Amino acid sequence: MTVAESAYLTEEIAELKWKKNALILAHNYQLGEIQDVADYVGDSLELSQIAARSTAEVIVFCGVRFMAETAAILCPEKSVLLPDIDSGCLLADMITAEQLRQKKENLPQATVVCYVNSPAEVKAEADICCTSANAVEIVDSLNSNEILFIPDQHLGHYASTKTDKHIILWPGYCPTHTRIRREDILRVKGAYPEAKVVVHPECRPEVIAIADEVYGTGGMVRYAHRDDVKELIVGTEIGIIHRLRKENPNKRFIPASEQAICPDMKLITLEKVWHSLRDMRPQIQVEEMIRDRARTAIDRMLAAPSGGGISDEMATEKLPSVRR
Ligand code: SF4
Repeated sequence: MTVAESAYLTEEIAELKWKKNALILAHNYQLGEIQDVADYVGDSLELSQIAARSTAEVIVFCGVRFMAETAAILCPEKSVLLPDIDSGCLLADMITAEQLRQKKENLPQATVVCYVNSPAEVKAEADICCTSANAVEIVDSLNSNEILFIPDQHLGHYASTKTDKHIILWPGYCPTHTRIRREDILRVKGAYPEAKVVVHPECRPEVIAIADEVYGTGGMVRYAHRDDVKELIVGTEIGIIHRLRKENPNKRFIPASEQAICPDMKLITLEKVWHSLRDMRPQIQVEEMIRDRARTAIDRMLAAPSGGGISDEMATEKLPSVRR
């Protein structure tokens, strides 16, 4: 796309956003051009909470389907648009509600902890949700000693190394994060020996074992702002590098692997955002019964200590006013 085309679309989107009282939210892994037109860039739960607090009537969720569903669960009175209906998540697709129901029958004592990267129907079958940032705290906050952790085995394994609870893992994984290998980290570290290494807990255990820090994307963004962090090797989807460089122009950010690209996260383009706002589709709706049950699992997480409220900066940040 030429600079002129991009500028034209950006203007059209701004105009439509104003006319429709809309808010554009972009996940940290979205294309740079999408992050740049968004009102907020963040992780999935932060963005859903911002959607719920906003006075906008329309939420354009630039992310993947489970994220737009979470926004629809938290703010059912708003229209939630997902500019590309095919933006799925291979990790979320590794579990179904029916499979979970069967597993629960075999593990009647287990408490089900559900990573938010999961379909709404699966959340509706879970006892409590968690994010990559609060998985350990959520597991520790439970009375039960037996936990069925779904659907990401690596996040569940990471939590198991930090708690005495017995954690049963679901065999799901994120194909993008598992593409990051231990050898990748060692090779990049060899080229940048002074750099710190931060990785996402969806990475393989052997990758986590050699990292300096393990954070979800929100934690990575905050870590990158620290004064003592000058060079950072980043072990997550490479879309976050755009935000890190933009917010920290004098620091160096190096992807742990150029292969860590989530194809679903790259489906949304400026044209699709424009079409979506213009035509008010595709809309994401969650059936009422599923929504109520999934909301309970999310609310339990938010009520737990370290539940996962939005960051202090975001909580105090004024939402952009929407012109009518
Ligand atoms: S990076 Fe992994 S967990 Fe995130 S949307 Fe892509 S496949 Fe799903």
